Amino acid sequence: MEIRVFGARGSLPLGSRPSAFGGNTPCVACTAASGAVLILDAGTGIFPLGRQLAEAGPRRDIYLLFSHVHWDHIQGFPFFGPAYDAGGCLHIMGGPTAGGTWEQALCGQMQHPYFPVPLSALHASLDFQKWPNAARWQMGPFLVSRAQTNHPGGGFAYRIQCEGTSLVYATDTEHFPSGIDTNLAALATGADLLFYDCTYFPEEYPAHIGHGHSTWRHGVELAHAAGVRQLVLFHHEPSHEDEALEEMERQAAREFPRVWAAREQSVHIA
Ligand SMILES: [Zn+2]
Ligand SMILES: [Zn+2]
Repeated sequence: MEIRVFGARGSLPLGSRPSAFGGNTPCVACTAASGAVLILDAGTGIFPLGRQLAEAGPRRDIYLLFSHVHWDHIQGFPFFGPAYDAGGCLHIMGGPTAGGTWEQALCGQMQHPYFPVPLSALHASLDFQKWPNAARWQMGPFLVSRAQTNHPGGGFAYRIQCEGTSLVYATDTEHFPSGIDTNLAALATGADLLFYDCTYFPEEYPAHIGHGHSTWRHGVELAHAAGVRQLVLFHHEPSHEDEALEEMERQAAREFPRVWAAREQSVHIA
């Protein structure tokens, strides 16, 4: 399974200055040997992903799995090229959210007066899949399991297993005052890769308690507790320049050597 980052910024896309980390909001693509793709979140990074899928040629199975409904995780969806591809099919799933169904959520952001093209005008067929009761389930070749995140409005972290590789995607979550989230530690046990919400430096965090985001230090603690092989710092705070993200990487690496801050187009084959 190939894992490629298409968007790693939290909250807001940034395009005003070049960055080694890119400017798009969350989107990570997992690609199986068969060509099937499982996409985690539809931040603005899903736009370049859609172009890349179109260039790659033949249509393939596309699965779209959402962490939660906050705007930075859905705002790219109306610009996802394969959604306009007649004959294509997108299998879409997300957890229960306060805003209703996922069809309503994606439809809502494309309604007048927010957007000119309604969801009903997309040419691909949209297969909104039922949220499973089972603790783990299959999406094409991908075996998926989940844990709730600690985030305003709720959300889910996922473990994706395919072809001997395991990835845990835990964005938009805040550690508990008592320390790491034991549910996330259980989900991430022995994983090859852990993407974790490292929006803040530890010294920035006290001003943001309750916002639903975490720090690199808690990412490191979680990585140690779960025994993961590699840690990816994710959901970069919009005001953090490249120098700050590189510094965060250095600080985290002193305590967990196999760590890096997520960069767009970086590829991980664990
Ligand atoms: Zn977010
Ligand atoms: Zn959020």
